[in-house]
Amino acid sequence: MRFSKYLIFTLREDPKDAEVISHKLMIRAGLVYKEESGLYGYLPIGFRVYNKVVNIIREEMNRAGAIEVLPTILTPASLWIESGRYDIMGKEMIRIKDRKDNWLVLGPTHEEAFTDIVRRTVSSYKQLPLTLYQIAKKFRDEIRPRFGVMRCREFTMKDAYSFDIDEKGLDESYNKMREAYIRIFKRVGLNALPVEADVGSMGGTRSEEFMVFSSVGEATIIHCPTCNYYANVERAESILKDDDVVENETMGELKEVDTPNVFTIEDLTKFFNTSPKKFIKTIIYMADGKPVAVLIRGDLDINEVKLKNYLGAAELELATPEIIEEVTGAKVGFAGPVGLKKEIRVIGDFSIKNIKNAITGANKTDKHIINVNINRDFEVKEFADIRTAKAGDICKNCGGSLEETKGIEVGHIFKLGYKYTESMNVTVLDKSGNRIHPIMGCYGIGVDRTIAAVIETSNDEKGIIWPITIAPFECVIVPIATKDEKIMEISNKIYEELLSKNVDVAIDDRDETVGVRMNDLDLMGIPFKIIVGKKAINENKIEVKRRDNGQTYEIPVSEAVDEIISIIKEEYKKYEA
Ligand code: ATP
Ligand code: MG
Repeated sequence: MRFSKYLIFTLREDPKDAEVISHKLMIRAGLVYKEESGLYGYLPIGFRVYNKVVNIIREEMNRAGAIEVLPTILTPASLWIESGRYDIMGKEMIRIKDRKDNWLVLGPTHEEAFTDIVRRTVSSYKQLPLTLYQIAKKFRDEIRPRFGVMRCREFTMKDAYSFDIDEKGLDESYNKMREAYIRIFKRVGLNALPVEADVGSMGGTRSEEFMVFSSVGEATIIHCPTCNYYANVERAESILKDDDVVENETMGELKEVDTPNVFTIEDLTKFFNTSPKKFIKTIIYMADGKPVAVLIRGDLDINEVKLKNYLGAAELELATPEIIEEVTGAKVGFAGPVGLKKEIRVIGDFSIKNIKNAITGANKTDKHIINVNINRDFEVKEFADIRTAKAGDICKNCGGSLEETKGIEVGHIFKLGYKYTESMNVTVLDKSGNRIHPIMGCYGIGVDRTIAAVIETSNDEKGIIWPITIAPFECVIVPIATKDEKIMEISNKIYEELLSKNVDVAIDDRDETVGVRMNDLDLMGIPFKIIVGKKAINENKIEVKRRDNGQTYEIPVSEAVDEIISIIKEEYKKYEA
């Protein structure tokens, strides 16, 4: 590629709306442009990176035995109604009405579509196991698109779906994908770790997210440095450090106390001059339209994913002030387990089991009760772990002290179970001629988010530092003076030869100063610059300069091509899986 005839578009200034490095650099280096909030298009340099990532993913999927297909992205509403997800998916799913007034869905994910392919084409156990995949656009109307392509509304996903006759088969398919993911992330230069993830309430049995540790990650990961337990906070379990607030207290007498305008646990703690651990918080949720009261110790937080799973609810949200008043008889902030006005389901987190003489809301506006004791003053029929694990808690596996870090979720693998094959009634004949539902797994990688994550973890003040495997070009030749015939002759010769030997090389022959061109190449993260200057004429030497550490090699012109090829080859070894 000759840059003089190519589309290079770089910016000196950071875009105003960009909060994170990868977003800034993707715009500044001309990889992508922003069409609108959450909608990004790829410019030529970015598209080259994108294609390299896609190729690596495709190679590894094929190596793992997965088979590529190209389903439609527009899917009929009927498929989603069949699986029961048409309503559940909510506003994130983009729906379109066609000219005949039929609803269509721009696929946010493709479980239904792939299940439908299998339903159409597979009828016998002999055709299984089968893992199908696509690399295609997904559409999600995210509430808060942010961080450039990291959370956008139109993005590319590699999504694969496995179909097996039994759980043992699913285990094998899942492990094959897991291995493929480890290879893919190694090859693109990402340190991505599988982390235990939420399995939902739909019968999934195992799920792992591939996380890249980064302060800009939106996921919180609970980690035990002693035994290497890693789990998304959505599902992490832990033991409380101080689960024994049972002091040698005798039970006091229930008493109402006026607490006008004291709402938060912090204010209450001051008001009562005690520890937040003495409080039982009562929070009213609506689960699939029904009110539920949830009790947890004052200093702890409810994990809504755990709660939702425990309840098996499709929708869970905080109750509105009107409903809270209806249920408790009081304004927001004074709910408690004793004397709820309406009889509703009550779930207690394990953390409240041992609190003696607790303080709770009185279910009366501006009033709390002290000396509340479980079993004496109120009963809890259902206990569950619905607490958010946090740093400092004790690891349930080894007793170590847990830590918290942030992660970017780049991939997700999931043992789905029978949800889709049952709801969409997909069956195959087994060995004995019985009709059985195949068991499914699903496996996603965000292509764009992967690219952003690489930049997030590999950059410096000059710009991006690409791993050679996904760089827009492996190397770019920089003729110091583009008007100097001799320099251009040497540059062109090296360029043509490298091209003929399948090196992914470009020549930056733009009519710009050397400084401008070098800065652009650094911004774009080109791994090797091949500088052809006066030395090429006077001493017969060119210079190869590494992007990552600035190291330079002087090489005789006659050996340049072979030497560059061997340097590049060596570089690829770092990313071999
Ligand atoms: P998140 O929790 O970040 O919203 P998700 O759980 O919705 O992710 P999946 O449905 O498992 O994600 O999708 C698989 C992969 O697709 C994710 O691991 C991520 O890499 C990518 N992805 C998901 N949503 C987006 C988005 N809005 N923009 C870019 N990539 C995305
Ligand atoms: Mg999401």
